[in-house]
Amino acid sequence: MPNETKATCCTDDACCSPKEVTFKKTLSLTPVNPAVPASTASCCTDNGCTAEIKEREEEKGASILENGKHLEYRIEGMDCGACAVTLEKHMRSLPYVTDIRVNFSTGNMKIVHNTTPETIISEVKKAGYTAIPASSQRKAAKAPSSYSGISLMAVSGILLVLGSLSSLVQVPSTIVTTLYAASILVGGYKPARSAYYAVKSGSLDMNVLMASAAIGAALIGEWLEGATVVFLFALGTTLQTKSIERTRESIRSLMDLAPPEAWVKQGIALTRKPVEEVKIGDTIVVKPGEKIPLDGEIAAGTSSVNQAPITGESIPVDKQEGDPVYAGTVNEEGSLEIHVTKLVEDTTIARIIHLVEEAQEKKAPTEAFVDRFAKIYTPIVFILAILIMIFPPLFGWGTWEAWLYKGLELLVVACPCALVISTPVAIVSAIGNAARHGVLIKGGAFLEIAGTLQTLAFDKTGTLTEGKPKVVKVLTINGTEQDMLAIARTIEEHSKHPIAVAIMDYTSGQHLSSRQGENFTTIVGKGAQAIIDGISYYAGNLKLFQGLHAPTTSIEKQVLELQNQGNTIVIIGTHDTILGIIAVADAIRKTTTDALQKLKKIGIHQTVMLTGDNEGTASHIASTAGVDRYFAELLPEDKVAAIKKLQENNHVVAMVGDGINDAPALATANLGIAMGGAGTDTAMETADIILMADNLEKLPHTITLSRKALRIIKQNIWFSLIVKFIALGLIFPGWLTLWLAVISDTGAALIVIANSMRLLRIKN
Ligand code: ADP
Ligand code: MG
Repeated sequence: MPNETKATCCTDDACCSPKEVTFKKTLSLTPVNPAVPASTASCCTDNGCTAEIKEREEEKGASILENGKHLEYRIEGMDCGACAVTLEKHMRSLPYVTDIRVNFSTGNMKIVHNTTPETIISEVKKAGYTAIPASSQRKAAKAPSSYSGISLMAVSGILLVLGSLSSLVQVPSTIVTTLYAASILVGGYKPARSAYYAVKSGSLDMNVLMASAAIGAALIGEWLEGATVVFLFALGTTLQTKSIERTRESIRSLMDLAPPEAWVKQGIALTRKPVEEVKIGDTIVVKPGEKIPLDGEIAAGTSSVNQAPITGESIPVDKQEGDPVYAGTVNEEGSLEIHVTKLVEDTTIARIIHLVEEAQEKKAPTEAFVDRFAKIYTPIVFILAILIMIFPPLFGWGTWEAWLYKGLELLVVACPCALVISTPVAIVSAIGNAARHGVLIKGGAFLEIAGTLQTLAFDKTGTLTEGKPKVVKVLTINGTEQDMLAIARTIEEHSKHPIAVAIMDYTSGQHLSSRQGENFTTIVGKGAQAIIDGISYYAGNLKLFQGLHAPTTSIEKQVLELQNQGNTIVIIGTHDTILGIIAVADAIRKTTTDALQKLKKIGIHQTVMLTGDNEGTASHIASTAGVDRYFAELLPEDKVAAIKKLQENNHVVAMVGDGINDAPALATANLGIAMGGAGTDTAMETADIILMADNLEKLPHTITLSRKALRIIKQNIWFSLIVKFIALGLIFPGWLTLWLAVISDTGAALIVIANSMRLLRIKN
């Protein structure tokens, strides 16, 4: 195929971005006329590509993790991005660790090493966290959570209360001090241990800051303050860990969607087997009311299947023999025999989980910005704290105690925890919410773009319409209808275009068979061609025949009339004779108009339809569907140009398509949204956001959710910054106490987390 040679650069996967790789795949799906250059395939030969190569090379380091022998662990107890950094640095310093990545948002650690898992687990423990191998986590979705942290905190709290109670009555101050000291030791043991590893690996995380503050307080004899700092810090971090775990859990709960066992049919016997043991080609039986355990194709039976768990679709889908079904969906009516087509690890739901986890590991631009800010902020405040402890008293501007105390407060205020947490928790929650509505957002960056969208462009065929056109009218101009239809059938037999499928179906219904043809070619955006009995015959639109200088004037009026009724016209003929006209119509999806109305309601500025179809049909469909604007008669490369035009004046534009023949436009838009993710793999690879259902139902929800996520992230950032600055401001008049400083830090973090978790609950 010609496009493959054009896209040579694309054959090397390392060369192109994932988008361009899929691009190649998509292109090779449609046979292309050698006479028509596949201009879209030039993506790789010009610009863009070199930059992509570089990016790819940089990513290679990370890809070792995917290719090499690696293990995945789930880490518990991380409540701050810095914790992940500390753990990563510590593990990297170990001689037997080749590569490691710790992700705070997902709580995952990927590691390449040549030692035993036990050693890894104990090293993680040393740094203050709990590692659970990912494989055992999948079996028992709920891993045993450690209560040791909580009980230590409780003991520390009791000691603190005892201490303050005894300070009220007449007991020797040594006893009071001992009680406080014990409280500090018990509650501070874990953070101090983490702090030790942080310092050792050269990072300045909140454990270090809090530990220094507590030790400092003890040194200046403020035992009560020290104990309060330790207790409040322990309480705050425990609460934070718990709530962050809850957001992480919301993704893991997706894994429980599909049942762990299946009824496998062998002969006439049914045996219950774990899904891991079911092979491709096995037949499984799913009774009414049961969940489907694996992806497959219906071999016998009909039913209505509720696909909401995967696609978010509100209405169950009727399924019959030959239709695909997905693990995790619910068989509502009849008993089904299903021919298994995917192993348990390759099912659609497994891929969703994988994609969602990957998505959550990607940093959004805001997050990266906040991280950079924190990286500068913390050391600056830390140094400031040291300076304040030393210089003013050195110059005799006050007592050492007073300035030391102010310095310790600064140490606590130097903790940027709430700020650092402001973005990732919100993003994880939003991506999790979307996933449960059948929408995959491939990363926080795309969530941010979706939240600022102004214009949405839609592909017509298969996106706004069902993509299953039907022949509605046949007009014969020259010769017999039978001859004309047989020729149409012969040409279209080799095309995969929905129009071709419609003509094949119609002629099959008329019991017509194809004739002997050769040199079958597709003329992109115009039609198709074949040589029959030595004569070139064409099937295509008016433009195609005008280009051939065929005698079209006599049929133009009829053609226009049919087009204005919303039909797509296929003319059959040669360069000097028109044999006939076939009118094809594609119904608008029921969900389309509804979704478009909702988009208007939530304030999307402009909806645009892009189509290769003619002006008349386009205008009819556009007004019926309710889009604001349309571009008709576009060749694939024109769709790219149309997107670029919409992007003028910095407009943020999303392109929505089925991902099959609109990959270039999806890649050009600020945001590529594909639908029908459950059905086609290409859609899953090409786009930034994937609607698993084969319709637009969840699009408005996705946009509302993204906007709310953006708003919540902004609130979080401002809130944590303002709290920090108020705390800083209160230090110098001497109004801030150490324990207030701790509360302002951990309390703000908790509020930020709670605010972010609202995103888990947003319904559409
Ligand atoms: P779209 O998906 O927006 O309809 P296409 O580029 O797939 O755009 O097709 C554009 C137009 O080209 C169609 O509306 C039709 O008129 C014509 N066409 C494309 N392929 C065929 C075909 N196999 N047979 C007849 N007409 C075709
Ligand atoms: Mg199309």
